[in-house]
Amino acid sequence: MEESTLSFARRAALLGAAGAATLAALPGTAAANGVPPQRGPMPPRFHRIKVGDVEVTTLLDGGMQGTNAGIQNFFPDSTPAEIAPLRERAFAIEPGLHQPVGAYLLNTGRNLALIDCGGHASFIPTTGQTLDALRASGYAPEQVDTVLLTHIHPEHALGLSYDGTTRNFPNAEVVVTQIDHQFWTDPAMESRVPQGQRFIEAARRAIRPYPGRIRTVEMRQGLEVIPGVFLEPAPGHTPGHVSFRVTSQNQSILIWGDIAHQMVIQLARPRWRVGVDVDPAMGVESRVRTLTMLAEERILMGGVHVPWPGFGRIIRDGEGFLYVPRPAQFA
Ligand SMILES: [Zn+2]
Repeated sequence: MEESTLSFARRAALLGAAGAATLAALPGTAAANGVPPQRGPMPPRFHRIKVGDVEVTTLLDGGMQGTNAGIQNFFPDSTPAEIAPLRERAFAIEPGLHQPVGAYLLNTGRNLALIDCGGHASFIPTTGQTLDALRASGYAPEQVDTVLLTHIHPEHALGLSYDGTTRNFPNAEVVVTQIDHQFWTDPAMESRVPQGQRFIEAARRAIRPYPGRIRTVEMRQGLEVIPGVFLEPAPGHTPGHVSFRVTSQNQSILIWGDIAHQMVIQLARPRWRVGVDVDPAMGVESRVRTLTMLAEERILMGGVHVPWPGFGRIIRDGEGFLYVPRPAQFA
């Protein structure tokens, strides 16, 4: 190693500074230097914890990067002057709003269930890794018996089917609230979708290959959708938007869909309406109620747009709340 370092240094000296830069940039130069080549993109990622007897595995689907122009649409109650310090607090150095996308796999011992299932590159180019992450985590899509949907938005549901004909989870039953299912399938509702036809097409494409396999449920507090998993209504973002509470051995975790997309900004300003919500005022009520409940109960939480690896707790912070990530080194 030392010898090759010397030879690199000697060659660099002979070539001069510009030549050294060129040499360093050449593929294979690093290996000649004894340093292994850089490894490139990360492999599919998952992270697993235990909540009572239940294994909860987060699967990283990808991420979404917005534009500066989109910020005002997303937070119509905000001003650039109010957003700037919150973005600074979040170390948001890139333009626009960034949000990760994840899915949560539950192995309860009785069910292998997914809470939401990611998106697809056909809708958002930087999403669609859930199936790869699922396989990396030790399971096959055929083993998933239930997909629990928080709502039928593309980066939560398009993982069900990319082409509208193939079931990515061929043996799964899909559970969604009756209200959300109707909202996305009833032509009379189309004018109420803030994002328009593109979202409607994606929602219908996602669920189309599951006829007879969709179980619509009442949006009722505490409804047990599979053993040990209970509904928490959170309407507003979409009419049938829900969270899921997983309980085992006196431990609980609440996993939400879109209570918050921007953890730093929205927990500091939970009453800011979200422009993409179907009913923004109701969305505020659901957000404040959910955050208050979590801060009081101090239980674990997760959410589809919660920073990787997607587990934490909520505490009060002045007029708002603060997200405290769960240290990922704990088993
Ligand atoms: Zn959504």
